[in-house]
Amino acid sequence: MSLPELFRHRDRFIGCLAIGRVPRKREGERLRAGAREALLDAGDAAAFDALAQTLLHGADSTFSIVAHGYDYPSLARCPALEADGRCAIHLQGKPVTCEVVPLDPLVPDRLQHIVLAGRKESAGYLGADCIHEGEFDGAAPMVAQGRVVDASAHDALTRRRVALEAEREIWGRAVFAALRRDLFESPAALARIPSGGFLTISLVPALLAVAGASMRCRDLCVDYIDSQIALIERCIEGALLRRRLEDRPVTQELRSFAQAYRQARATLAQPLPASRVQDEAWVAKQAVRVEAYLSRG
Ligand code: SF4
Repeated sequence: MSLPELFRHRDRFIGCLAIGRVPRKREGERLRAGAREALLDAGDAAAFDALAQTLLHGADSTFSIVAHGYDYPSLARCPALEADGRCAIHLQGKPVTCEVVPLDPLVPDRLQHIVLAGRKESAGYLGADCIHEGEFDGAAPMVAQGRVVDASAHDALTRRRVALEAEREIWGRAVFAALRRDLFESPAALARIPSGGFLTISLVPALLAVAGASMRCRDLCVDYIDSQIALIERCIEGALLRRRLEDRPVTQELRSFAQAYRQARATLAQPLPASRVQDEAWVAKQAVRVEAYLSRG
């Protein structure tokens, strides 16, 4: 999810940061998923690089830092999923990342058929049979001949990439810089990022990055923090009633998120430090930009 989407759905999703590794793809490498395989040519590698340079972080653009909705994995369902199988927020700003499914914004359009092959396999594992190869009466293709041909899928993919790029610009770079020494330059800390998965940490570094833009941004962040602390407490209460052993580490992590929020709230109660940027017009422009961004959801 994007930060504005988390702000919009603050009473439903617990926000956090998800940090993953996205190894650089090189010419001659094989990409395998399900029954499909592609041998990457120079054009494929360049297309991966182009996406990485605008969406990822690090010298080799190999780290993803995204805002993320978090919940107890043991519940095995999205907090917005209704009992009848519908999405409770479908008409109230459903996250763009949900619209992108089953495509992957970090993979070039020309290779989305490989993504679909992988999704087909995982969907089968979950008991779903919703992705088919070939043409069928009454079903429009999603990808064909190296293009995403379904207009709504293509639009969602574009919007998600635009959102990821905005996230990177507005708070991602600042978070990467803030975590550089303790995470990205520490082999021991990097070992905590699981291969093929991601490390979850508090959303606070992103909030601190945007809160400094203006008093209004700070107020928006404080409101968000208050809602999140209340939501975390409700979620933990529910987990304590369920009494499942596997929930314990998640409860512990949620408590650490709540603690980080309380500390951030205390930090934000202090006067904003004077901007190091002397250009007042730039500061004002940046404030308007971030305020508009946070209210976008
Ligand atoms: S579309 Fe599904 S995953 Fe996305 S918010 Fe709605 S219920 Fe959750």
